[in-house]
Amino acid sequence: MLTCKDVSDVASDYMDGPTTLLQQINFRLHLLMCVHCRRYFQQLKLAAGIAGKYELPAEPSDDETDALISKLNKQKT
Ligand SMILES: [Zn+2]
Repeated sequence: MLTCKDVSDVASDYMDGPTTLLQQINFRLHLLMCVHCRRYFQQLKLAAGIAGKYELPAEPSDDETDALISKLNKQKT
């Protein structure tokens, strides 16, 4: 699981281009759970002028959270 520091490190890479699926899942999973990093990333997107370029719902649905978690669990096995 990513820490908040990891997220801030990864956030710029994430905006530069494609990352691995696992990175994306870990990143998004952290954002789902951590309101601080969610706000941080939203501000980063606004600052970079690419708001809306990447779909990252501010209020993810339970379904999306479940899907991410099940994907993550599959990769661990
Ligand atoms: Zn965080």
